[in-house]
Amino acid sequence: MELLWLLLPVAAASGWWAARRQPADCNGVTIRNADYFKGLNYLIDDQPDQAIEVFTRMADVDQDTAEIHLALGNLFRRRGEVDRAIHIHGSLIARTNLTNDQRHRAMLEIGEDYLRAGLFDRAEELFQKLLDQPDHTAIALSRLIHIFQQEKDWRQAVAYSDRLEQISGESKRRQTAHFCCELAEAANAQNQHDEARIWLRDALARDPDCTRANLLLGRLAMRTGDYRVAIAAFQAVEQQDRGYLPEVIAPLGQCYSALNCLDEWIAYLHEVQARDHGGRITDALAEWLLRQEGEEAALRFLECELREYPTLLGLRRLVEIKLARGKGAEYADLRALHCISTQMLNSAARYRCGYCGFVVKSLHWWCPSCLQWSTIKPMPDLVMKTSA
Ligand SMILES: [Zn+2]
Repeated sequence: MELLWLLLPVAAASGWWAARRQPADCNGVTIRNADYFKGLNYLIDDQPDQAIEVFTRMADVDQDTAEIHLALGNLFRRRGEVDRAIHIHGSLIARTNLTNDQRHRAMLEIGEDYLRAGLFDRAEELFQKLLDQPDHTAIALSRLIHIFQQEKDWRQAVAYSDRLEQISGESKRRQTAHFCCELAEAANAQNQHDEARIWLRDALARDPDCTRANLLLGRLAMRTGDYRVAIAAFQAVEQQDRGYLPEVIAPLGQCYSALNCLDEWIAYLHEVQARDHGGRITDALAEWLLRQEGEEAALRFLECELREYPTLLGLRRLVEIKLARGKGAEYADLRALHCISTQMLNSAARYRCGYCGFVVKSLHWWCPSCLQWSTIKPMPDLVMKTSA
């Protein structure tokens, strides 16, 4: 059924071509019209291979068949038959009687074929040639940016994104901010902290909502012992997008501990708890209560919190505190519950793309499924919020 839809453009192009040729060549048209309807019949009878054969034969008959070649080549690429697509588009480009528009479209298509085949060098060469063609500059730029992303050539990706934004008028700031973050991570990996900071500031200047830049600034500040700077960066993440709060709870706790400012930490946790009752906040508050006021206070808090806002992390913490009281046979059920909740936490997908629904166990900034930036976020771990 999917193939039927893919073949329709070929059928349409063939029909257009046959009708266009009618006044000039009555005998030829009779044969080609017959071929056209034969191809259509194969399509209707769900015999796509035979249909493709007929349409290919039609395309071979005459020089004036560029549209059919383009449609056929696209069809083969979509079917995954990239070699045949490259062959068809390549033979089209080799012709001398194409219009400029047809030649440029064929170059775009063979560029797409090369991309699909993973031949990035050849694709890049073709798209570079198309940059000077005003009708195709924007699409060539976007395909080149795609190639630079695949090759992790982030500097080129930034430069070409800026150019695309300039000519299309469409903001590319979210993605260029991520390219800057990629450059910052590369600098960090080589201990070039100053350069990393410059890229991260650049990222925030391009996209003030870039949570990744603040997360990286926070981690960088932690590495250099600037815990106050780190706290400010991590707290900015919550201001930018509360969905990323679970990512900053643990490092924030480490920063406040390093500064020995646990009162401040608990005040912050209470402040965010007023807005968010996720498992990590519940768990962090219970841990603090356990350390400061003992297990009874922690258990009272957890029992009360979980009744209203049940989370797996909170439940596991409650079971852990109760288990710490003894190891006898009467605790066997609790041990089983602890084991199950740990397995569930370890195996569960923790992140989901809000754009395409792709789920994954670790945080990706670029969704490998829909290729969007910043669409994957931590999944809320609240099992169910009871009505007030
Ligand atoms: Zn996605």
